[in-house]
Amino acid sequence: MKGRIWMIHDCVIIGGGPAGLNAALVLGRARKNVVVIDEGCPRNRVTREIHGFLTRDQISPSEFRRIAKEQNSSYPSIHFVADTAVEITGTDVFFQIKTAQEKTYRSKKLLFAVGMKDLPVDIKGLAEVYGKSAFVCPYCDGWELREQPLVLIVKGADALHLAKMISGWTNHFTICTNGPDELTDAQREELSQHNVPVFDSPIQIVESNDGMVQQVVLEDGKKIACTGIFFRPKLIAGSNLPQEIGCQITEAGTVIVDNFGKTNVPGVFSAGDAASQLHQAITAASLGSLAAVGINNELNEEAWSRGHNNE
Ligand SMILES: Cc1cc2nc3c(=O)[nH]c(=O)nc-3n(C[C@H](O)[C@H](O)[C@H](O)COP(=O)(O)OP(=O)(O)OC[C@H]3O[C@@H](n4cnc5c(N)ncnc54)[C@H](O)[C@@H]3O)c2cc1C
Repeated sequence: MKGRIWMIHDCVIIGGGPAGLNAALVLGRARKNVVVIDEGCPRNRVTREIHGFLTRDQISPSEFRRIAKEQNSSYPSIHFVADTAVEITGTDVFFQIKTAQEKTYRSKKLLFAVGMKDLPVDIKGLAEVYGKSAFVCPYCDGWELREQPLVLIVKGADALHLAKMISGWTNHFTICTNGPDELTDAQREELSQHNVPVFDSPIQIVESNDGMVQQVVLEDGKKIACTGIFFRPKLIAGSNLPQEIGCQITEAGTVIVDNFGKTNVPGVFSAGDAASQLHQAITAASLGSLAAVGINNELNEEAWSRGHNNE
């Protein structure tokens, strides 16, 4: 439009979870102009508490975000937008990010902190207990289920891996493979030697009361009483945008980055669950911080080479 002056932000951050929020904090403190576009659908929204995050142990995900936004808001160059990024054009030093609400934001750098998403698991009754008594990560929720009878819904070699991990929290657990499984005879033997029952029958239903699992009922009629479940949902990228603009992706759907979150696409960075195999809030925040340093270094180098400091 003739005569219109566009604001070009130093960085647009897509995603306002721990990764995006920590990146915003570091960039804001580095006096960079940042917009965080977040549609507000984080992976941990089903759970009541975040665990294992120093100073933030046992607070709710929404309270975590509220505190993070409040702290970010004391830096005037950080702005929040509740929206979904839907299209990206342009290249390094001039990206255009279009949103579902038909706004366009322009930036020199781009950070994808879009997280990962669970694909729905086709087990009746599991959705009702997810985040309340069924979890995905023992480091996040193992303490709350310590010494309790658990069911692990897991297949193949991962069953043995998860069994060894869980044994640090409880010795009372059963593996349900939920249908035919590739566990080898040697793996079954190893589990048997450690008194871990393995059932291959498909799961008919997870029975619960007010989000608390009571028993897992198998199609062959067996009922396994338990107070908690760990399972392995299939994950997909929180957004296809990184792939659409040419970022290299792993088989697991995460963006390939260097130690400072830099992707193969110039000017584009990624952090948090979206760019890591280890999915924990504190790790995501830390990766967001590292990516912010990478972004800030590039911005400063570019300004310096043009003869401007902190442009
Ligand atoms: C049930 C459960 C319990 C957990 N418990 C713990 C725990 O106790 N402790 C712990 O450390 N970790 C826990 N985690 C893991 C933790 O939630 C994640 O590691 C962490 O949230 C990752 O942060 P992130 O910023 O990378 O992504 P997220 O927190 O998932 O945030 C990504 C954000 O990007 C937004 N987004 C995606 N695409 C777009 C787009 N196109 N436009 C705008 N916004 C977009 C999403 O809506 C979301 O708000 C748990 C996870 C689950 C599933």
